[in-house]
Amino acid sequence: MTVEFFVFGLVFGSFLNVCIYRMPRGLSVVRPRSACPSCHSPIAAYDNLPILSWLILRGRCRRCKARISPRYAMVELLTGLFFALSWLASAGSIVLAVKYCVFSFLLIGLIFTDAETKLLPDLLTKPGIGLGIVFSFFAPVEGPAEWLLSRWGTFDDRVFWVVNSVTGAVFGAAFILGVAMLYKVLRNIEGMGMGDVKLMALIGAFLGIKLTLLVLLFGSVIGSVFGVVLMLTVWRKRLARRRSRIEEPAGMARAQAWYSARLIFRHLEIPFGVFLGTAAMFAAFWGMPLIRWYFGLYQ
Ligand SMILES: [Zn+2]
Repeated sequence: MTVEFFVFGLVFGSFLNVCIYRMPRGLSVVRPRSACPSCHSPIAAYDNLPILSWLILRGRCRRCKARISPRYAMVELLTGLFFALSWLASAGSIVLAVKYCVFSFLLIGLIFTDAETKLLPDLLTKPGIGLGIVFSFFAPVEGPAEWLLSRWGTFDDRVFWVVNSVTGAVFGAAFILGVAMLYKVLRNIEGMGMGDVKLMALIGAFLGIKLTLLVLLFGSVIGSVFGVVLMLTVWRKRLARRRSRIEEPAGMARAQAWYSARLIFRHLEIPFGVFLGTAAMFAAFWGMPLIRWYFGLYQ
């Protein structure tokens, strides 16, 4: 079954590429057929095989030889791998495997769209929130529901799962809303948008509060590392340029270079969706073992 899931993933990844290109541009994802972004000639079915076609054509259009981004092959491969992983992680439960597949599909789509266009399309986030809650009727979601509700009586497990999913969604959205408002008050800039709020609601609906907390933690770690690396890179480049051009004291050059690194960082639109989405993929598959391992250290 692992191979079947992998092949399914390749096909869905291929469709995701269409979504990533068309959704931010407001185009239909169903019609027309795929075309070369450069010469607009339609792509034949035999040139549209996931990964293989990209490798055979060496990342170029058959007609006009324009370069085709390696993103296409990467999205297909990633979706294939995560679909296979979904099956392996679900211990033979088809419902759970499909839930993980849907989650991976949505997140890979959102991560790459955010990275390329700084947008998180409603067409992926909104149905995603709904799907997360729908899946909680059939597959367990971790959270505090059992602990909270059991004092009022006995409930079906499904009740706990659904409550955990809904509270996860509300918690994720509320957290990002809070951070966005804080950002606005403290620095008077729009750090996060409603896209990020909906993304975290989606993640919360699929994963529940416990894993959502882990996502927020990982997401901020990945984001901080990205920020520090980016600032240091800009700083070093600026410094090298100043040193090669003008005679000035080393301390002055360093200060000036640091100033422009900070300026660029402040005006950069940070792709929070990429960090949160990546963190969520990690948390979905390795979050619970990690939490159990961590708390196991103290027993
Ligand atoms: Zn072309």
